[in-house]
Amino acid sequence: MRLVMASGNAHKAAEIREILSAHMIEQRPSWVGEVDENAETLAGNARLKARAICEATGTAAVADDTGLEVDALGGLPGVRSARFAGDSATDEENLRKLLKSLEAVPSDERGARFRTVAIVAFPDGKELVTEGVANGMIAEVPRGNGGFGYDSLFVPDEGTGLSFAEMSETEKNLISHRGKAFRSLAQLLQS
Ligand code: IMP
Repeated sequence: MRLVMASGNAHKAAEIREILSAHMIEQRPSWVGEVDENAETLAGNARLKARAICEATGTAAVADDTGLEVDALGGLPGVRSARFAGDSATDEENLRKLLKSLEAVPSDERGARFRTVAIVAFPDGKELVTEGVANGMIAEVPRGNGGFGYDSLFVPDEGTGLSFAEMSETEKNLISHRGKAFRSLAQLLQS
């Protein structure tokens, strides 16, 4: 089976290729326009992206949407993680806003989780949906140069105390929200 990737994010695409195996994934065609991610839920946004690419290409398409849920912020930024610091915010601006929002929060109250919903949309209207969660905490200063997004501030419970940005892609994938969601998806695709 071949799946067209809905994401244009190169970091995400590399992770998904490694998890699902590269031969399953086709690059998102450059002629398909950006999808407005205006749904209220992660599943809603993942569905919008997967359906748009599936309808444009006539081929099964895969998409994910990810949110960072911070306990001390009542679960925010969640579905608004990409736009936490504003509609066209950069990763850097989002990181800075997160650190500022948690300035007065002590280390034992900095619990958080990444949640990914992954969807394959098929041309006949059917779909497969999975979810993956990585629990952890928000560091007090950014650590590491790898990864993307909020990786340098997220220290997963399942790791050895390193942030996601201090791990290799393979190490991150083994315990990450995206790794879990896409390995479940791979199992569903096989069955
Ligand atoms: P989206 O799923 O591409 O919409 O991502 C939502 C937001 O979460 C963006 O700001 C991403 O940079 C960030 N993000 C998504 N996945 C990850 C991840 O695996 N690590 C860190 N940040 C992520």
